[in-house]
Amino acid sequence: MVKSPIDNSLVEEATAWRRHLHAYPETAFEEKATADFVATKLEEFGIEVHRGLGGTGVVGTLKRGTSPVAIGLRADMDALFIQEENTFDHRSKVDGKMHACGHDGHTAMLLAAASHLAKNGNFDGTVRFIFQPAEETGDEHCGGNAMVKDGLFEKFPVDAVFGMHNFPNAPAGRFMMRTGPMLASIDTFEFHVLSRIAHPATQFAVADPLLTAATIVQEMHMFKARYLNPAEPVVLSITQFRSGDPSHRQSVHVTPDEAVVRGTLYTLNDSVRDAFEAGLEKIVRNATEAIGAGHKFIFERGYPVLRNTRTETRFAASVAEEVVGEKLVDDDMQPIMGAEDFAFMLGSVPGSYVFLGSAREGEAAPRPLHTAQYDFNDDIIATGVRYWTTLAERYLAETPGRH
Ligand SMILES: [Zn+2]
Ligand SMILES: [Zn+2]
Repeated sequence: MVKSPIDNSLVEEATAWRRHLHAYPETAFEEKATADFVATKLEEFGIEVHRGLGGTGVVGTLKRGTSPVAIGLRADMDALFIQEENTFDHRSKVDGKMHACGHDGHTAMLLAAASHLAKNGNFDGTVRFIFQPAEETGDEHCGGNAMVKDGLFEKFPVDAVFGMHNFPNAPAGRFMMRTGPMLASIDTFEFHVLSRIAHPATQFAVADPLLTAATIVQEMHMFKARYLNPAEPVVLSITQFRSGDPSHRQSVHVTPDEAVVRGTLYTLNDSVRDAFEAGLEKIVRNATEAIGAGHKFIFERGYPVLRNTRTETRFAASVAEEVVGEKLVDDDMQPIMGAEDFAFMLGSVPGSYVFLGSAREGEAAPRPLHTAQYDFNDDIIATGVRYWTTLAERYLAETPGRH
């Protein structure tokens, strides 16, 4: 099979799109101008467009020949609530919002791949270009889940779905992926210790919520350290602890009636996740019952573990090797304890998520994702587009048809 090379002019065009998107960032479910931009371009390329899936999601369908095989390629479109500190021309024109995770680059690369495949694509089958909203919410109300719930894979069936994210901590052009759990689940929890306001001098008469909450925090970390298989990676963080009224100095003479504690949990294993939900609830219940205090415990599940399937990940690695060479592909990277809502899509169909290194040459330290100095590295656009187009052309050539 002859694969078509990518035009330099297309890479230049994609760079201009990327910078335009960077200048006009939109956050979760408000990606109206971005979705318009995407849909208009796809229509210009002659691709069938479906809008408004899962809110502002856009799906482009490009069908050629008679094969029933279909592949899904996904990019995310949303920005973050960060005030950009960069001063270049394409810096954010929207106060307090910026593309600090490179979703402007992901959108531009997938659009360029769509343009190329529409014009020169050598394949038999269907390519679906999935542009999703709201990857950054961190809870179940995210764009990936919204699109899946809105019938993404029933309305637009695919045999496999693939995702890609730029990765500033690795050299530009390096691909990284792994079979199995690659990114963590993310959950949030909250507990309240409920008592009555008391005079510190007679505190012994009622339960002390602050001291009890502090003990619970320690017990939660003890649970992680002593009651779980240490081979299972877990990140437990208590991020908020509120009790008493610090705004009035005089309140130092009042023992508060409530303590509220919040935290986050990242795991790579569903049974560990279950064990934590049950274990943390039990710790709160036991500790409060023991001193006669009331309690409230809330555990909210966010993104599931992102789990790449074996066949599709091997395939993704072989495509990456074809694009950048074997030396620049790590197909057994260490999992990362961050989360990604592409996990919801991988919960429905097989597929693989990969990182594409995007560190700038000559820069001593990477500009990390989610910082005010970050900017997507346009030098990886050509590689990203070649990965998408090679992946689609080869997948449709090498995957046997469904029956
Ligand atoms: Zn992000
Ligand atoms: Zn991101």
